[in-house]
Amino acid sequence: MDKREPEKRGGVRFWLALWAAKLSVPVLKLTRHNGTHFPGSLAMRICPDFLRRLSKPEKIVAVTGTNGKTTSTNLICGMLRARGLRVLSNTLGSNMYAGVATALMEGVSVFNRCHSDMAVLEVDERSARYIFAHVKPQFLAVTNITRDSIQRNAHQEYIFDLVNLGISYTPETVLILNADDPVSSFLGETFGGGEGAFPNRRVYYGIADQGQDAFLPGVPDFSVCPKCGGKPEFSYRLYRTIGQFHCPKCGTSSKERDYTGLRLDFENRRLTVEDRSGARFDCPLPSDSIFNAYNTMMIVALFGEMGYSRQETARLLGEAQITDRRFTLETAGGINLYTYAAKGQNGSAISSVFEYLAKDPSKKEVVVMLYEHFGDTLTWLYESDFEYLDQENISKIILTGNRYLDCELRMKLAGIPAEKIVCLEDETRVPEYVDTEGIESVYFLHDVYCMEKTMRCRQLVKKRILGGDGHEN
Ligand SMILES: [Zn+2]
Repeated sequence: MDKREPEKRGGVRFWLALWAAKLSVPVLKLTRHNGTHFPGSLAMRICPDFLRRLSKPEKIVAVTGTNGKTTSTNLICGMLRARGLRVLSNTLGSNMYAGVATALMEGVSVFNRCHSDMAVLEVDERSARYIFAHVKPQFLAVTNITRDSIQRNAHQEYIFDLVNLGISYTPETVLILNADDPVSSFLGETFGGGEGAFPNRRVYYGIADQGQDAFLPGVPDFSVCPKCGGKPEFSYRLYRTIGQFHCPKCGTSSKERDYTGLRLDFENRRLTVEDRSGARFDCPLPSDSIFNAYNTMMIVALFGEMGYSRQETARLLGEAQITDRRFTLETAGGINLYTYAAKGQNGSAISSVFEYLAKDPSKKEVVVMLYEHFGDTLTWLYESDFEYLDQENISKIILTGNRYLDCELRMKLAGIPAEKIVCLEDETRVPEYVDTEGIESVYFLHDVYCMEKTMRCRQLVKKRILGGDGHEN
């Protein structure tokens, strides 16, 4: 059979698709549409195997996982660009099939010649199987697989199988896996162990016991041994079910690590790393949260495997910054005003943020701004540990966004005293209710969809602290 036959058949369609997609970019800009998936989507409508035919950079890194993939992809891109590389990425756009096609399309000429050095792609877990059928990354870095929106993602084992199916299409890809995540660490093999392992080389990263107590999750992401159904025991957890486990019944246990974060020093933002050769070195931490420490370890492992020296990785990490859309800090009149993206529909992610701020000893108020589509299921509210917010040093919790009444009920069920809770239908009134005396910080927890509203709200609080009236002129 002539192997070139499909190429010939699809040739004209491919060129039409490429040119139409390229042409749509300036048109979208002119009409002020921010279409990050439209060009790719259009191209695939014209030529269904567009992604396969599209020229790609020689080096591709893909990042997937439930939480932390956007932050990590941004950091990796920033570090590689700081090195002077021309890097394609979908960090500002969609992480699904069409978004990846758009990002890669932007890196080729009208003659389908790739003029970029690398691509760093954020890949949606459910799209991995479609993307890896045509895009073969050298490295696939995985943050974790935890509970997520039940409507979109069902449960972790289902997502695990979808990512694993994607990996089965790309046997040459090196997997960079989180040894401390009992779910995603089994990628590249049958969940829970051993049999049917894929040929992919696997590299594991993690963080050693730091002697700290992690809060117990109300609904754990990992409660049953995947091999025998026994009850796994943790020798330590750093947050949620991220830590080292073993099953007393069948002996299944966490993977051995190639890159270990030995000592976390959040105060000085330093991390001591030991690699598989036993060599130790210091790395800067771009943030003081445990989940970002894991993202940092993943990046250390990835750069180590890409051949970067320890010094170079540390230097690039030192210059890297967490993107503003996830976390920001401003100070007004000695009060720290934080904004934190806390994904609704995702009990694990929001509980990690709750734990983070419960452990921050400062006297604080918390503003929760959740906007959701009506019709979305509310079960995630009951899988999230609102109980963590029942702390002495949290003096007030202000609820707004269209889910404020659902949040109020959940807070009350979590035992949070009613007098601490303020419910506001109109978010522009939040600043009137923030106490500006006797507190050290205010946390604005917001959905990824309401960044602008959150920033406006913080601006008004800032104005009020600095002596304004809390209203914009
Ligand atoms: Zn077992």
